[in-house]
Amino acid sequence: MKDSKDRLEALRAEIERRNPAQPEFHQAVREVLETLAPVFAARPEYADPAVALVERLTEPERQIVFRVPWQDDRGRVHVNRGYRVEFNSALGPYKGGLRFHPSVDIGVVKFLGFEQIFKNALTGLGIGGGKGGSDFDPRGRSDAEVMRFCQSFMTELHRHIGEHTDVPAGDIGVGGREIGYLFGQYRRITNRWEAGVLTGKGAGWGGSAIRPQATGYGSVLFAAEMLKVRGESLDGLSAVVSGSGNVALYTIEKLQQLGANPLTCSDSHGYVVDDKGIDLALLKQVKEVERGRVSEYAQRRGSSARYVSDGRIWDVPADVAFPSATQNELDGQDARTLISNGIKAVSEGANMPTTPQAVRLLQEAGVAFGPGKAANAGGVAVSALEMSQNAARIAWSAQRVEEELAGIMRSIHAVAYETAERYGTPGDYVAGANIAGFERVADAMLAQGVI
Ligand code: GLU
Repeated sequence: MKDSKDRLEALRAEIERRNPAQPEFHQAVREVLETLAPVFAARPEYADPAVALVERLTEPERQIVFRVPWQDDRGRVHVNRGYRVEFNSALGPYKGGLRFHPSVDIGVVKFLGFEQIFKNALTGLGIGGGKGGSDFDPRGRSDAEVMRFCQSFMTELHRHIGEHTDVPAGDIGVGGREIGYLFGQYRRITNRWEAGVLTGKGAGWGGSAIRPQATGYGSVLFAAEMLKVRGESLDGLSAVVSGSGNVALYTIEKLQQLGANPLTCSDSHGYVVDDKGIDLALLKQVKEVERGRVSEYAQRRGSSARYVSDGRIWDVPADVAFPSATQNELDGQDARTLISNGIKAVSEGANMPTTPQAVRLLQEAGVAFGPGKAANAGGVAVSALEMSQNAARIAWSAQRVEEELAGIMRSIHAVAYETAERYGTPGDYVAGANIAGFERVADAMLAQGVI
């Protein structure tokens, strides 16, 4: 065990040296490597330096960086940077979303792509890991500007993707509208109606039922599974949910369906606490129809809701927490607050929203902690089901997709739980998810030779 720890530490140092100024990527790699020591001790073939498995796993198969020029409504030309990191295809075509946000750089895309490898492996659905995006900021842009940006982005991206190669989808800043514009441009350039090249498409043209809901629904189902192991349920519990994008909205919806009471939502400017519980119809109107801010929800909701512009959403007392906005949004101090407020479970709807220190504190305090790789895998899982439907040229009913999603979330929970037990860290879903995902990818890589 000591040997494998030393080897992992040396690997980590070398990866950080070779990939300077990519803190999010370092954080994601470190978190996975920290949990692998027991696997390396038990299965020495994974650690054999002569095979360089971890070196290969942490080096993307391909990294594409490109210029995205586009014209705004006044005729001014802007230049953004586009990315697609095709990280690992041992288990299937590269699969993962596109993020349009000013914070996007190569390190962020690599962190997301690296996480995606293990998340996708956990779904058991035969998809590799990739991620992409741009530093384009869609906020305040007109529909026409977003369309021109998406068209320019796809004019380069189309040559790298395909239903058997790489299948992008949405992430922060990329939803149904953007997928529509991207798909249209792909179809025009290639002259192919290739449904399986993108997921998250509209319901009438190849999209899967339940895909918009899948990440949020899945994150709540994962929390329900964690609570069930402890003899508890979500019914009657209060919840603090961050974010107000697709993940947060459908986290709120599923919580309400299961009898819980979500009290909050947020955006980059502030958060809302609603003592009566979030009015989802109003929130959807503000966010999905009007593309507005959560402060507008508070203004229209009446006396039960207040808007807080300079505070921490995690200060709001609740039984369960769903960080569903963005990376590193819940830090050590927030974790202490949650613990002192008696939090029972935390389920990550976003990718890596909880800092390493916060994860440690929550786990030490005995809080059930569902890492994003497991808890938010429902989104990409239903994307894989969308690919299956596209390949068969059929559309499943919402009921069927929802049943499949529930089964997948139960099995991800079971494999993470059992793997943690098997390696002597019962209840540690971080270790369980990392190890179970790693074993699947590592076995496929070893079988496929030095690639
Ligand atoms: N962006 C989502 C994720 O983080 C979904 C990716 C997909 O559907 O391909 O998993």
